[in-house]
Amino acid sequence: PLSTTDHIEARRICVCVRKRPLNNKEITKKEIDVVSIPGNGALLVHEPKQKVDLTKYLDNQVFRFDYAFDETSTNDLVYKFTAKPLVQSIFDGAMATCFAYGQTGSGKTHTMGGDFAGRQQNSAKGIYALAAQDVFTYINHRRYANMDLSAYVSFFEIYNGKVYDLLNKKAKLRVLEDDRQQVQVVGLEEVYVSTAEEVIKMIQMGSACRTSGQTSANANSSRSHAILQIVLRRNERSSTLHGKFSLVDLAGNERGTDVSSNDRSTLVETAEINRSLLALKECIRSLGKNSDHIPFRMSTLTKVLRDSFIGEKSRTCMIAMVSPGMTSCEYTMNTLRYADRYK
Ligand code: ADP
Ligand code: MG
Repeated sequence: PLSTTDHIEARRICVCVRKRPLNNKEITKKEIDVVSIPGNGALLVHEPKQKVDLTKYLDNQVFRFDYAFDETSTNDLVYKFTAKPLVQSIFDGAMATCFAYGQTGSGKTHTMGGDFAGRQQNSAKGIYALAAQDVFTYINHRRYANMDLSAYVSFFEIYNGKVYDLLNKKAKLRVLEDDRQQVQVVGLEEVYVSTAEEVIKMIQMGSACRTSGQTSANANSSRSHAILQIVLRRNERSSTLHGKFSLVDLAGNERGTDVSSNDRSTLVETAEINRSLLALKECIRSLGKNSDHIPFRMSTLTKVLRDSFIGEKSRTCMIAMVSPGMTSCEYTMNTLRYADRYK
Protein backbone atom coordinates (compact mmCIF):
# COMPACT_ATOMS: atom_id res chain seq x y z
CA PRO A 1 0.00 0.00 0.00
CA LEU A 2 0.96 3.62 -0.64
CA SER A 3 3.69 2.66 -3.07
CA THR A 4 3.99 5.26 -5.76
CA THR A 5 3.30 2.80 -8.57
CA ASP A 6 -0.01 1.98 -6.94
CA HIS A 7 -1.11 5.53 -6.50
CA ILE A 8 -3.92 6.71 -8.75
CA GLU A 9 -4.89 10.32 -8.27
CA ALA A 10 -8.60 10.72 -7.50
CA ARG A 11 -10.30 12.74 -10.22
CA ARG A 12 -12.99 15.17 -9.29
CA ILE A 13 -15.53 13.05 -11.16
CA CYS A 14 -14.89 9.56 -12.43
CA VAL A 15 -17.53 7.60 -14.33
CA CYS A 16 -17.14 3.88 -14.91
CA VAL A 17 -19.21 0.99 -16.08
CA ARG A 18 -19.14 -2.64 -14.94
CA LYS A 19 -20.71 -5.54 -16.78
CA ARG A 20 -21.57 -8.65 -14.82
CA PRO A 21 -21.36 -12.16 -16.34
CA LEU A 22 -24.47 -14.05 -17.46
CA ASN A 23 -25.67 -16.10 -14.50
CA ASN A 24 -26.63 -19.78 -14.61
CA LYS A 25 -30.31 -19.07 -14.88
CA GLU A 26 -29.72 -16.82 -17.88
CA ILE A 27 -27.43 -19.37 -19.49
CA THR A 28 -30.08 -22.08 -19.02
CA LYS A 29 -32.62 -19.80 -20.67
CA LYS A 30 -30.18 -19.25 -23.56
CA GLU A 31 -30.02 -15.54 -22.84
CA ILE A 32 -27.84 -13.73 -25.38
CA ASP A 33 -25.01 -11.45 -24.31
CA VAL A 34 -25.36 -8.14 -26.15
CA VAL A 35 -22.77 -6.08 -24.30
CA SER A 36 -19.12 -5.97 -25.40
CA ILE A 37 -16.20 -4.17 -23.83
CA PRO A 38 -13.50 -3.79 -26.47
CA GLY A 39 -11.10 -1.80 -24.26
CA ASN A 40 -10.03 1.76 -23.47
CA GLY A 41 -13.15 2.50 -21.52
CA ALA A 42 -15.51 1.76 -24.41
CA LEU A 43 -18.68 -0.25 -24.15
CA LEU A 44 -20.79 -1.44 -27.03
CA VAL A 45 -24.39 -2.67 -27.05
CA HIS A 46 -25.04 -4.62 -30.21
CA GLU A 47 -27.76 -6.52 -32.06
CA PRO A 48 -28.09 -10.13 -30.93
CA LYS A 49 -27.12 -11.73 -34.21
CA GLN A 50 -24.75 -9.05 -35.37
CA LYS A 51 -21.22 -10.26 -35.78
CA VAL A 52 -19.26 -7.82 -33.68
CA ASP A 53 -16.63 -6.22 -35.81
CA LEU A 54 -15.06 -3.87 -33.34
CA THR A 55 -13.47 -1.74 -36.01
CA LYS A 56 -16.80 -1.03 -37.63
CA TYR A 57 -19.33 -0.51 -34.92
CA LEU A 58 -21.74 2.35 -35.06
CA ASP A 59 -20.97 5.41 -33.03
CA ASN A 60 -24.40 5.67 -31.50
CA GLN A 61 -24.07 2.29 -29.89
CA VAL A 62 -20.75 3.04 -28.27
CA PHE A 63 -20.36 4.63 -24.88
CA ARG A 64 -17.07 5.78 -23.48
CA PHE A 65 -16.19 5.96 -19.81
CA ASP A 66 -13.15 6.55 -17.67
CA TYR A 67 -13.03 2.80 -17.16
CA ALA A 68 -15.15 -0.06 -18.47
CA PHE A 69 -14.86 -3.30 -16.51
CA ASP A 70 -15.84 -6.48 -18.31
CA GLU A 71 -17.36 -9.64 -16.85
CA THR A 72 -13.97 -11.08 -15.93
CA SER A 73 -13.12 -8.13 -13.66
CA THR A 74 -12.85 -8.84 -9.96
CA ASN A 75 -14.02 -6.60 -7.14
CA ASP A 76 -10.35 -6.07 -6.32
CA LEU A 77 -9.66 -4.63 -9.74
CA VAL A 78 -12.78 -2.45 -9.77
CA TYR A 79 -11.89 -1.19 -6.29
CA LYS A 80 -8.37 -0.27 -7.28
CA PHE A 81 -9.52 2.11 -10.02
CA THR A 82 -12.66 3.50 -8.39
CA ALA A 83 -12.85 3.68 -4.59
CA LYS A 84 -9.21 3.26 -3.64
CA PRO A 85 -8.15 6.70 -4.93
CA LEU A 86 -11.08 8.13 -2.96
CA VAL A 87 -9.93 6.49 0.26
CA GLN A 88 -6.57 8.14 -0.29
CA SER A 89 -8.28 11.47 -0.92
CA ILE A 90 -10.14 11.57 2.42
CA PHE A 91 -6.79 11.39 4.20
CA ASP A 92 -5.97 14.61 2.36
CA GLY A 93 -9.21 16.10 3.65
CA ALA A 94 -11.61 15.30 0.81
CA MET A 95 -15.33 14.64 0.90
CA ALA A 96 -15.58 11.61 -1.34
CA THR A 97 -18.52 9.64 -2.66
CA CYS A 98 -18.74 6.41 -4.60
CA PHE A 99 -22.07 5.42 -6.15
CA ALA A 100 -23.25 2.05 -7.45
CA TYR A 101 -25.97 2.70 -10.02
CA GLY A 102 -28.04 0.34 -12.16
CA GLN A 103 -31.11 -1.84 -12.48
CA THR A 104 -31.95 -4.40 -9.81
CA GLY A 105 -29.86 -7.52 -10.38
CA SER A 106 -27.06 -5.74 -12.25
CA GLY A 107 -24.47 -6.15 -9.47
CA LYS A 108 -24.59 -3.04 -7.28
CA THR A 109 -24.63 -4.88 -3.97
CA HIS A 110 -22.16 -7.49 -5.24
CA THR A 111 -19.73 -4.69 -6.08
CA MET A 112 -20.23 -2.78 -2.84
CA GLY A 113 -20.14 -5.96 -0.81
CA GLY A 114 -23.20 -5.32 1.28
CA ASP A 115 -24.79 -8.71 0.77
CA PHE A 116 -24.35 -10.83 3.86
CA ALA A 117 -27.52 -12.87 3.48
CA GLY A 118 -25.89 -16.22 4.08
CA ARG A 119 -25.05 -17.65 0.72
CA GLN A 120 -22.55 -14.91 -0.12
CA GLN A 121 -20.22 -15.67 2.78
CA ASN A 122 -17.44 -17.00 0.60
CA SER A 123 -17.75 -14.54 -2.22
CA ALA A 124 -15.02 -12.04 -2.94
CA LYS A 125 -14.82 -8.97 -0.77
CA GLY A 126 -16.58 -5.91 -2.02
CA ILE A 127 -15.67 -2.24 -1.99
CA TYR A 128 -16.93 -1.70 1.57
CA ALA A 129 -14.47 -4.20 3.03
CA LEU A 130 -11.58 -3.25 0.77
CA ALA A 131 -12.02 0.43 1.59
CA ALA A 132 -12.21 -0.33 5.31
CA GLN A 133 -8.94 -2.26 5.12
CA ASP A 134 -7.17 0.61 3.41
CA VAL A 135 -8.55 3.17 5.86
CA PHE A 136 -6.75 1.41 8.70
CA THR A 137 -3.62 0.82 6.67
CA TYR A 138 -3.41 4.56 6.07
CA ILE A 139 -4.36 5.58 9.61
CA ASN A 140 -1.38 3.61 10.84
CA HIS A 141 0.93 4.63 8.04
CA ARG A 142 3.75 6.97 8.92
CA ARG A 143 2.63 9.48 6.30
CA TYR A 144 -0.63 10.09 8.20
CA ALA A 145 0.17 8.90 11.72
CA ASN A 146 1.08 12.37 12.98
CA MET A 147 -2.40 13.60 12.11
CA ASP A 148 -3.78 11.47 14.90
CA LEU A 149 -6.97 10.44 13.11
CA SER A 150 -9.82 8.21 14.22
CA ALA A 151 -12.44 6.49 12.07
CA TYR A 152 -16.18 6.29 12.63
CA VAL A 153 -18.93 4.62 10.62
CA SER A 154 -22.56 5.40 9.99
CA PHE A 155 -24.89 3.26 7.93
CA PHE A 156 -28.36 4.32 6.91
CA GLU A 157 -30.92 3.94 4.19
CA ILE A 158 -33.21 6.34 2.42
CA TYR A 159 -36.59 4.96 1.53
CA ASN A 160 -39.38 7.15 0.12
CA GLY A 161 -37.39 10.23 1.08
CA LYS A 162 -37.08 9.18 4.74
CA VAL A 163 -33.84 8.31 6.52
CA TYR A 164 -33.61 5.12 8.59
CA ASP A 165 -30.59 4.36 10.79
CA LEU A 166 -29.36 0.83 10.06
CA LEU A 167 -27.08 0.90 13.10
CA ASN A 168 -29.93 1.81 15.41
CA LYS A 169 -32.88 -0.50 14.77
CA LYS A 170 -33.99 1.41 11.72
CA ALA A 171 -34.86 4.48 13.73
CA LYS A 172 -36.46 7.10 11.51
CA LEU A 173 -34.34 10.25 11.52
CA ARG A 174 -34.92 13.86 10.58
CA VAL A 175 -32.77 15.79 8.14
CA LEU A 176 -32.22 19.40 9.14
CA GLU A 177 -30.55 22.27 7.37
CA ASP A 178 -29.27 25.16 9.47
CA ASP A 179 -28.98 28.79 8.41
CA ARG A 180 -25.48 28.19 7.08
CA GLN A 181 -26.87 25.45 4.82
CA GLN A 182 -25.17 22.75 6.87
CA VAL A 183 -27.21 19.58 6.64
CA GLN A 184 -27.49 17.27 9.60
CA VAL A 185 -29.12 13.89 10.04
CA VAL A 186 -30.30 14.33 13.59
CA GLY A 187 -29.32 11.50 15.93
CA LEU A 188 -27.51 9.39 13.34
CA GLU A 189 -25.33 6.77 15.06
CA GLU A 190 -21.64 7.25 14.44
CA VAL A 191 -19.71 4.26 15.76
CA TYR A 192 -16.01 4.47 16.56
CA VAL A 193 -14.09 1.70 14.78
CA SER A 194 -10.46 0.67 15.09
CA THR A 195 -10.20 -2.29 12.71
CA ALA A 196 -11.60 -3.32 9.33
CA GLU A 197 -13.27 -6.28 11.05
CA GLU A 198 -15.27 -3.90 13.22
CA VAL A 199 -16.44 -2.03 10.13
CA ILE A 200 -17.53 -5.28 8.53
CA LYS A 201 -19.39 -6.25 11.67
CA MET A 202 -21.30 -2.97 11.49
CA ILE A 203 -22.13 -3.57 7.82
CA GLN A 204 -23.36 -7.07 8.61
CA MET A 205 -25.50 -5.75 11.41
CA GLY A 206 -26.88 -2.96 9.27
CA SER A 207 -27.52 -5.21 6.27
CA ALA A 208 -29.47 -7.64 8.43
CA CYS A 209 -31.43 -4.71 9.76
CA ARG A 210 -32.02 -3.50 6.21
CA THR A 211 -33.59 -6.66 4.91
CA SER A 212 -35.53 -7.68 8.00
CA GLY A 213 -38.40 -6.01 9.80
CA GLN A 214 -41.03 -5.08 7.27
CA THR A 215 -43.00 -3.12 9.81
CA SER A 216 -41.88 0.47 9.39
CA ALA A 217 -40.44 0.62 5.93
CA ASN A 218 -39.75 -1.38 2.85
CA ALA A 219 -39.65 -5.11 2.41
CA ASN A 220 -37.56 -4.86 -0.71
CA SER A 221 -34.09 -3.42 -0.29
CA SER A 222 -33.76 -2.70 -4.01
CA ARG A 223 -36.20 0.17 -3.54
CA SER A 224 -34.00 2.09 -1.10
CA HIS A 225 -30.60 3.76 -1.19
CA ALA A 226 -28.08 2.39 1.34
CA ILE A 227 -25.33 4.75 2.46
CA LEU A 228 -22.24 3.70 4.39
CA GLN A 229 -20.14 6.58 5.64
CA ILE A 230 -16.59 6.35 6.91
CA VAL A 231 -15.70 9.54 8.72
CA LEU A 232 -12.20 10.61 9.76
CA ARG A 233 -11.90 12.87 12.78
CA ARG A 234 -8.86 14.44 14.36
CA ASN A 235 -8.28 13.33 17.92
CA GLU A 236 -8.27 16.73 19.43
CA ARG A 237 -10.76 18.02 21.92
CA SER A 238 -13.21 19.26 19.31
CA SER A 239 -12.66 16.11 17.19
CA THR A 240 -12.79 18.09 13.98
CA LEU A 241 -14.02 16.46 10.81
CA HIS A 242 -11.05 15.69 8.58
CA GLY A 243 -12.53 13.74 5.68
CA LYS A 244 -15.56 11.66 4.79
CA PHE A 245 -16.20 8.81 2.41
CA SER A 246 -19.80 7.95 1.48
CA LEU A 247 -20.39 4.65 -0.29
CA VAL A 248 -23.83 4.53 -1.81
CA ASP A 249 -25.68 1.44 -3.03
CA LEU A 250 -28.44 3.19 -4.96
CA ALA A 251 -32.00 1.95 -5.41
CA GLY A 252 -32.71 0.07 -8.65
CA ASN A 253 -33.21 2.53 -11.50
CA GLU A 254 -35.94 0.57 -13.34
CA ARG A 255 -38.77 2.83 -14.39
CA GLY A 256 -42.31 2.93 -13.13
CA THR A 257 -43.71 1.98 -16.50
CA ASP A 258 -42.16 -1.46 -16.11
CA VAL A 259 -43.86 -2.07 -12.83
CA SER A 260 -46.80 -4.33 -13.57
CA SER A 261 -48.62 -3.44 -10.39
CA ASN A 262 -50.57 -0.22 -10.29
CA ASP A 263 -50.45 -0.34 -6.55
CA ARG A 264 -50.29 3.21 -5.28
CA SER A 265 -47.45 2.68 -2.84
CA THR A 266 -45.30 1.22 -5.62
CA LEU A 267 -45.96 4.25 -7.78
CA VAL A 268 -45.04 6.61 -4.97
CA GLU A 269 -41.88 4.59 -4.35
CA THR A 270 -40.88 4.71 -7.99
CA ALA A 271 -41.59 8.42 -8.34
CA GLU A 272 -39.40 9.11 -5.31
CA ILE A 273 -36.55 6.99 -6.67
CA ASN A 274 -36.70 8.70 -10.05
CA ARG A 275 -36.71 12.08 -8.38
CA SER A 276 -33.66 11.32 -6.26
CA LEU A 277 -31.68 9.86 -9.16
CA LEU A 278 -32.50 12.89 -11.26
CA ALA A 279 -31.43 15.17 -8.40
CA LEU A 280 -28.20 13.25 -8.10
CA LYS A 281 -27.50 13.69 -11.79
CA GLU A 282 -28.13 17.43 -11.54
CA CYS A 283 -25.86 17.79 -8.51
CA ILE A 284 -22.96 15.89 -10.01
CA ARG A 285 -23.26 17.79 -13.26
CA SER A 286 -23.15 21.09 -11.36
CA LEU A 287 -20.10 19.80 -9.54
CA GLY A 288 -18.49 18.95 -12.86
CA LYS A 289 -19.14 22.45 -14.17
CA ASN A 290 -17.76 24.01 -10.98
CA SER A 291 -21.09 25.72 -10.68
CA ASP A 292 -21.87 27.71 -7.54
CA HIS A 293 -25.41 26.51 -7.56
CA ILE A 294 -25.78 22.89 -6.49
CA PRO A 295 -29.45 21.89 -6.43
CA PHE A 296 -29.01 19.63 -3.43
CA ARG A 297 -32.45 20.38 -1.97
CA MET A 298 -34.16 18.43 -4.74
CA SER A 299 -34.11 15.17 -2.77
CA THR A 300 -33.24 13.68 0.59
CA LEU A 301 -30.41 11.72 -1.02
CA THR A 302 -28.68 14.84 -2.34
CA LYS A 303 -29.44 16.76 0.86
CA VAL A 304 -27.64 14.28 3.09
CA LEU A 305 -24.73 14.21 0.63
CA ARG A 306 -24.55 17.99 0.39
CA ASP A 307 -21.02 18.16 1.85
CA SER A 308 -19.85 15.94 -0.95
CA PHE A 309 -20.99 18.25 -3.72
CA ILE A 310 -19.56 21.47 -2.34
CA GLY A 311 -16.09 22.84 -2.57
CA GLU A 312 -12.68 22.15 -3.97
CA LYS A 313 -12.27 18.88 -2.16
CA SER A 314 -15.26 17.02 -3.54
CA ARG A 315 -14.47 13.73 -5.23
CA THR A 316 -17.09 11.53 -6.88
CA CYS A 317 -17.01 8.17 -8.58
CA MET A 318 -20.04 6.66 -10.27
CA ILE A 319 -19.99 2.97 -11.15
CA ALA A 320 -22.82 2.12 -13.53
CA MET A 321 -23.67 -1.58 -13.45
CA VAL A 322 -25.10 -3.35 -16.45
CA SER A 323 -26.52 -6.81 -17.05
CA PRO A 324 -25.28 -8.47 -20.22
CA GLY A 325 -28.52 -10.03 -21.43
CA MET A 326 -30.68 -9.05 -24.37
CA THR A 327 -33.81 -8.99 -22.22
CA SER A 328 -32.19 -6.31 -20.06
CA CYS A 329 -31.19 -4.24 -23.06
CA GLU A 330 -33.63 -1.44 -22.46
CA TYR A 331 -32.55 -1.03 -18.84
CA THR A 332 -28.93 -1.22 -19.90
CA MET A 333 -29.40 1.59 -22.41
CA ASN A 334 -31.13 3.70 -19.75
CA THR A 335 -28.26 3.14 -17.36
CA LEU A 336 -25.64 4.00 -19.97
CA ARG A 337 -27.46 7.16 -21.06
CA TYR A 338 -27.74 8.26 -17.44
CA ALA A 339 -24.06 7.68 -16.72
CA ASP A 340 -23.08 9.26 -20.03
CA ARG A 341 -24.60 12.55 -18.95
CA TYR A 342 -22.05 12.97 -16.19
CA LYS A 343 -19.23 13.67 -18.56
P1 ADP B 1 -28.21 -5.47 -7.37
O1 ADP B 1 -27.69 -5.13 -6.01
O2 ADP B 1 -27.79 -4.49 -8.42
O3 ADP B 1 -29.69 -5.69 -7.37
P2 ADP B 1 -26.74 -7.91 -6.97
O4 ADP B 1 -25.43 -7.33 -6.58
O5 ADP B 1 -27.60 -8.42 -5.87
O6 ADP B 1 -27.56 -6.85 -7.83
O7 ADP B 1 -26.47 -9.01 -8.07
C1 ADP B 1 -27.45 -9.90 -8.54
C2 ADP B 1 -26.84 -11.29 -8.63
O8 ADP B 1 -25.79 -11.34 -9.57
C3 ADP B 1 -26.25 -11.76 -7.31
O9 ADP B 1 -26.50 -13.13 -7.15
C4 ADP B 1 -24.77 -11.49 -7.50
O10 ADP B 1 -23.99 -12.36 -6.71
C5 ADP B 1 -24.57 -11.73 -8.97
N1 ADP B 1 -23.49 -10.89 -9.50
C6 ADP B 1 -23.54 -9.55 -9.65
N2 ADP B 1 -22.40 -9.06 -10.18
C7 ADP B 1 -21.58 -10.12 -10.35
C8 ADP B 1 -20.24 -10.27 -10.86
N3 ADP B 1 -19.53 -9.21 -11.31
N4 ADP B 1 -19.72 -11.51 -10.89
C9 ADP B 1 -20.45 -12.57 -10.45
N5 ADP B 1 -21.71 -12.49 -9.97
C10 ADP B 1 -22.28 -11.28 -9.92
MG1 MG C 1 -28.80 -4.73 -4.28
